[in-house]
Amino acid sequence: MSRIKKLPEEISRKIAAGEVIERPSSVVKELVENSLDAGATDIRVELLMGGKGLIRVTDNGHGMSLVDARLCFESHSTSKISREEDLDRITTLGFRGEALPSIAAVSRVVLKTAEPESSQGTLLEKEGIEVLKEADIAFPPGTSLEVKDLFFNLPARKKFLRSERAELSRIVKYLTYAALTRPGVRFTLTHGTRKVFDYPPVSQLKERIFQIYGKTLLEGLLEIDHQEGEHSLYGFTSRPPTARGDKKLQIFFVNDRPVRDNTLQAALNQAYKPFLEKNQFAAAFLFLNLPFSEVDVNVHPAKTEVRFRDARSVFSFVYRNIEQALLKAMGVKEVYPESQQQAPPPPVVAEELRPALGKEFVESQRYPPELFTFPVREKTAGPQVLGQYLKFYIIAADKEGILIIDQHNAHERVLFEQYTALDQEQAWPRKLALHPPLLELSPDQVVSLEENRMLLEEAGFQVDAMGGASYALKEYPDILSEKEAQGVFLALLEDVGQEKIDKKKHRLLATMACKTAIKAGEELALSKMAYLVEELFKTSNPALCPHGRPIIVRISQKEIEKGLGRHK
Ligand code: ADP
Ligand code: MG
Repeated sequence: MSRIKKLPEEISRKIAAGEVIERPSSVVKELVENSLDAGATDIRVELLMGGKGLIRVTDNGHGMSLVDARLCFESHSTSKISREEDLDRITTLGFRGEALPSIAAVSRVVLKTAEPESSQGTLLEKEGIEVLKEADIAFPPGTSLEVKDLFFNLPARKKFLRSERAELSRIVKYLTYAALTRPGVRFTLTHGTRKVFDYPPVSQLKERIFQIYGKTLLEGLLEIDHQEGEHSLYGFTSRPPTARGDKKLQIFFVNDRPVRDNTLQAALNQAYKPFLEKNQFAAAFLFLNLPFSEVDVNVHPAKTEVRFRDARSVFSFVYRNIEQALLKAMGVKEVYPESQQQAPPPPVVAEELRPALGKEFVESQRYPPELFTFPVREKTAGPQVLGQYLKFYIIAADKEGILIIDQHNAHERVLFEQYTALDQEQAWPRKLALHPPLLELSPDQVVSLEENRMLLEEAGFQVDAMGGASYALKEYPDILSEKEAQGVFLALLEDVGQEKIDKKKHRLLATMACKTAIKAGEELALSKMAYLVEELFKTSNPALCPHGRPIIVRISQKEIEKGLGRHK
């Protein structure tokens, strides 16, 4: 008896579709790539419900004939390669001929398209593999693809989609990358009736970065521009000491394709090491171009990963060129003429973000002392503090052995519990800014702000839209200085935006605690350490910080005795 059956086409297509189309952002990516491949200079993306209800991408590219409009939904149909040799010199973003059939297999699709030289356009409506309608229509040159009810016939997949805002945020992220690769193309995104962004065409990457991220970020960047035969590295990276607290704004493009790649990230961060403080990272928008024979883009269905033939030489090429640019830039003061007279904007240094501990803190009167000071006490109960190691760890002893306590994580835990209590009582002391500082937010920060406005307001942050990407920080928690408030607010947009609804509050409080806790590397007086340790052991969980990292390592007396040969 044969157990093996050939799957009906409808099922095998659905399975294949799952590989390429994971969520609304994958649809947007495929459609926008097709528009770019079709030479479009104007791409409009319209969404309903974070793309879960509707995605419509309209372009002014070269369009399709009636015959091609029918063909484009067939599996492995592409106009981009025709011979095996073509695989070695792919210049288009797509080439597998899988995207449209996959999208059509799991949604309701309406295609409208017209070629510039033709007086007639074509309309094609599909549901799964069924054609519902085909008609001649009047349509301007270009293509519009409408994708409705994604995964309507794959309920299991549909369940995995996240909130509207979370899906929207991924789409914004992808479109931001696309916009960076093509400054000359106009990109517009609308969500429901709201225009999320509109980037008119510009001639240079620098101007696109300005459109997306604003002046302040751009001014903290330096240009990298190097060509060696067929290899080139172009883009912008942070000018030290300007830096960021995380690696989220390190964006790489290989042959104009946004990619995630460890080799490139490592080369960048390695080059910056001597120039930045610990836990500070460069922002980077870097375009690496290599001969097609040296990189394989065909390793991932969505083509977001690449494989280098010689990763080591790629590492060294990137590392070397960034290092050289940095050495040069550190000797020359400024690259941008408009800021030549001014000193570069001060970096957000870790120290500025932390309320000090102890007496100085009370004297500065910047914070309500009852909340944040650690009074100096003669004695602490039980846990004995011996000293500080490497300015990172508190060394203490208890009955069972020696404790090594991470000072930052410990303070984070203590603050987290204080903040949680404040939050439960809705008692965040807040203050009005006299001259509200203006923040320039990127589109994904704006999305995060809108998604989390209530939460941020509960924590004392109130911002007003001032037009464009500008927002005024009107109110903020009283425990922060104005400068600290800006840093913490931006960190919250970043961190809270990524969290699932039920964990958002936790993440907000954890981020507040992290940003205001004493830092690793800070010298602490014995009395402060003693108090911190005492407070730590009053918390509900002295072993783990709010992010789930361990706080304490204990070396037991037994262990010590064993090591010293005293153990019987
Ligand atoms: P691929 O991009 O890998 O070729 P797709 O399934 O994404 O595969 O698209 C199939 C074909 O449909 C493309 O090769 C192209 O000829 C045509 N096509 C798709 N979208 C557009 C568009 N926006 N404008 C013009 N032609 C398009
Ligand atoms: Mg494609």
